[in-house]
Amino acid sequence: MKVYISGPISGLDRRLVEKRFQLAADWLERIGHIAVNPMTIEPIPGCGCPPEALHTWACCLRKDIRQLVTCDAIYLLPNWHGSRGARLELHNALELGLEMFDAGARTGPRAVNGRTLEPAVGVADYILEERQAA
Ligand SMILES: [Zn+2]
Repeated sequence: MKVYISGPISGLDRRLVEKRFQLAADWLERIGHIAVNPMTIEPIPGCGCPPEALHTWACCLRKDIRQLVTCDAIYLLPNWHGSRGARLELHNALELGLEMFDAGARTGPRAVNGRTLEPAVGVADYILEERQAA
C-alpha cells in the first residue's frame, strides 16, 4: 500500500520533525508499504516563492496534496489534531476514501468525522523507536 505520512510540522524543530517522519517512513517500509514522506517531497518547480525565502505554508501544502491524492492510505503521526495542515490532509483523505491509520491512538479506535481510525498495526514498535531515537 502507498501510505502518505501526515503530522505536525509548522512551528516545530525541523530536525526533530524530519526524524519523526523518517522513523515512520522506515517503519512503514519495513512492514511492506511504500511510504510518502512530505519532508522529502520537492517543491513544485516555478512555485513562485522568493528564492531566498522558505517555501510558504500554502506552497508546501500544494506539493504535499499532489502526492497525497496518489496514495492508498494516510498515516497520522501523534498530535496531528493540532496541525491545520494535517487536518486538511485528513479531510482530503476522508473524502477520497483513503484508509486511515492513527499512530497517536493509544486507547483503540476513535471516530473522526463519522469514520473510525484504527491504530496502525505495529504502532507500539514505532512509538518505542521514536522514544529510543529521542
Ligand atoms: Zn514555494
